Amino acid sequence: MNNFGYKQAEDTREAISLIEHNETAKFVAGGTNLIDLWKYNIANPSQLIDINHLAELSEIKTLEHGGLRLGAGVKNADTAYHPVVEHQYPLLSKAILAGASAQIRNMASNGGNLLQRTRCYYFYDAEVPCNKRIPGSGCPAKDGYNRIHAILGTSEHCIAVFPSDMCVALAALDAVVNITGPTGNRSIAFADFHRLPDNRPDLDNNLKKDELITSIDLPEKGFAANYAYLKLRDRHSYAFALVSVATALELKGNTIEDVKIALGGVAHKPWRSTEAEEFLKGKAANAENFSIAADLILQGAKGFGYNEFKIKLAKKAIIRNGLMALNPESQLPGAQPSA
Ligand code: SF4
Repeated sequence: MNNFGYKQAEDTREAISLIEHNETAKFVAGGTNLIDLWKYNIANPSQLIDINHLAELSEIKTLEHGGLRLGAGVKNADTAYHPVVEHQYPLLSKAILAGASAQIRNMASNGGNLLQRTRCYYFYDAEVPCNKRIPGSGCPAKDGYNRIHAILGTSEHCIAVFPSDMCVALAALDAVVNITGPTGNRSIAFADFHRLPDNRPDLDNNLKKDELITSIDLPEKGFAANYAYLKLRDRHSYAFALVSVATALELKGNTIEDVKIALGGVAHKPWRSTEAEEFLKGKAANAENFSIAADLILQGAKGFGYNEFKIKLAKKAIIRNGLMALNPESQLPGAQPSA
């Protein structure tokens, strides 16, 4: 049995002070990934610091400049069904509702969603080597069963993917992550929050051990008129994405004025390609141009055997999702893309 302490933090200052002075303490909110990691002997915190009652983390509120602030402690389900999110950021709502199960979405917090760890089978098996779990021990996934693994941004040290759906939409929407820590507050652009594995796959993101995510800001522009989220997986529910795509378009007629495309299930972080997005600006929104953009997004993609299929799958998904974004109604359950 593992003994551990538990303390409910009264405010963010106390939460930071508690974690700052205990190397092996962990924050807990919904616990939907931490408890898994604990059961599999991947995490073994000496103290849980409960952040569920921190007022600063618990709100969704409109920002002065027109954006929206999502409290890090707000549950995923409450975020997806919030009227402003549904109306102004339907891409985010749809991505959240594509993730996990209703029960998990009711428990999981927004901050925790950003911090969930990979679902690589080898990572969860404490009996085998894994560079993410034990740096320098090796990566059995590269030559092993790697059907769910990455095709972009991999390194010789790790080919794991980041499993979130919500974060794919947040990446496409250019969200900003707000953080507090012992030295004060800071903000990180969403694109810079998660890391590629390089030679430190044990680090999933750029949050320091003694820092706490307080909120996530969305810019005013929510692409509510033309958006689509497509999640391709082995089962229709309660499964992680093999490939997912978030597409946000701003159109003038059929010409693309602005575009954001983010991919999930293909890399150690949500994947964006500035080159592909720049290519699409000023072009007609059609299958041919989405196909060229897909090639730009996927340039350098590399499979490792069992996951080779993801390269073709991702290309088809990018094209299909671009077309669905022209008519968001086409992505309602059971509907087919219009072209
Ligand atoms: Fe570990 Fe990453 Fe290799 Fe999976 S892919 S076994 S997480 S090092």
